[in-house]
Amino acid sequence: MTRSYVIKPELGKTYPFISRGKGIYLFDQEGKRYIDGCGGAVTASIGHAVDEVAEAMYAQAKEVSFAYRSHFSSDAVEELGAKLAEWAPGSLNWSFFVSSGSEATETAQKIAIQYWQEKGRPTKNRIISRWMSYHGITMGALSMSGHVLRRKRFVPLLEDYPAITGPYPYRRPEGISLEDYALQCANELETAIKRVGSEQVAAFIAEPIIGASGGAVVPPDGYFQRIREICDQYEVLFIADEVMTGVGRTGKAFGIDHWGVVPDLMTLGKGMSAGYTPMAATIVSDEIIETISKGSGLIMAGHTYSANPQSAAVSLAVLKYVEKHQLIEKSAQQGAYLLSRMEQLAEEIPLIGDTRGLGLLCGMEFVKNKDTKEPFPLSAGVASQVIAKAFEKGLLVYPAIGGLDGVAGDSIILSPPLTITTEEIDELIHILRDAILAVQQELQEKALIG
Ligand code: PMP
Repeated sequence: MTRSYVIKPELGKTYPFISRGKGIYLFDQEGKRYIDGCGGAVTASIGHAVDEVAEAMYAQAKEVSFAYRSHFSSDAVEELGAKLAEWAPGSLNWSFFVSSGSEATETAQKIAIQYWQEKGRPTKNRIISRWMSYHGITMGALSMSGHVLRRKRFVPLLEDYPAITGPYPYRRPEGISLEDYALQCANELETAIKRVGSEQVAAFIAEPIIGASGGAVVPPDGYFQRIREICDQYEVLFIADEVMTGVGRTGKAFGIDHWGVVPDLMTLGKGMSAGYTPMAATIVSDEIIETISKGSGLIMAGHTYSANPQSAAVSLAVLKYVEKHQLIEKSAQQGAYLLSRMEQLAEEIPLIGDTRGLGLLCGMEFVKNKDTKEPFPLSAGVASQVIAKAFEKGLLVYPAIGGLDGVAGDSIILSPPLTITTEEIDELIHILRDAILAVQQELQEKALIG
């Protein structure tokens, strides 16, 4: 091919062409092999080219792929809804299907606002979110996202929903216990609700573990329990954005399950269909659906591809595969091993300031000075260099860059398929080590670090 007509992430850069995948590996057109160490952040959760999913996809396509949701439901959609209701905590029994994480979080936002309207409280229409968060790229989802770099160009068009800081244990104020820090961060929500006025606030949205804007930052115990209390006290709905943490990624069905907290709404994407088809969902509680049913009876959301049988059949096959191969339990086991290997690297390599994560959602933060935790400025592009070097050496890792400029600027996410074996983790770590050491040496040569 002589020229490309496709807009790429970096204009002017040449990208290799993907040709096939198997398990944790991807192969480009030249036959070069890559370990998929992140699956575009968690998406390829069951690995590549799984026969059962391909068969389910074909079986559904042979019958019918598309029927508009205003006219029909389907076996695939109903069965998928039932499976998610079985997995989800509390009375989160109702799924609304969309095609991307951004659509799922925007749908959650709309349903939350509609809920209060149906209850005769239309002023409750604002959302509170956190800095260092990512909820999607569409304007509504970006309004909720406290991701400095991604917001930057669009700020005048965005609602200023991010109001409180997310808990960031590695960079918590000196001398404070994790327990107190958890409460201090959660109590910021109460302050924000009082400032805005609880009669204006529809919902609070948070990722159970901070993903793209922080690099698998796990909150301290007690944080989400206190968040739930505050939401109940001020009649604010709690939306857990599980687009990254959902479907077994963190060693439990959903990230929020680690703290035994039940949200009012939950969003899923990515691993829900493991990259085999676009699929995402907003899951809502009985109480919300009963309220809307008694009121207008219509959900004011939806897209052309919402609840299409083809994507539902694929997603269902993915969930069944996760169950059959006990991938949630595997995620917990293999994640603990991956994290222990990352910790070993951190002991050896001064560039690594912190390692963290739950299950197979792990993060690594690079720092200029390990003792003081001094971060690199975003302009130094250290995480980007590690990502580029790893790619060169045949390993894909995910950027968590620019969430809080100059504070949480330089992290990567490691989130390989939940099927990864111990030997494959060793191979991943081996390549990652080489990549980080190469970048560290370049930084030393440029006198950017000691
Ligand atoms: N929420 C979270 C927590 C995410 O990590 C992402 C994607 N990184 C999104 C929402 C948006 O999903 P999508 O890119 O599929 O629109």
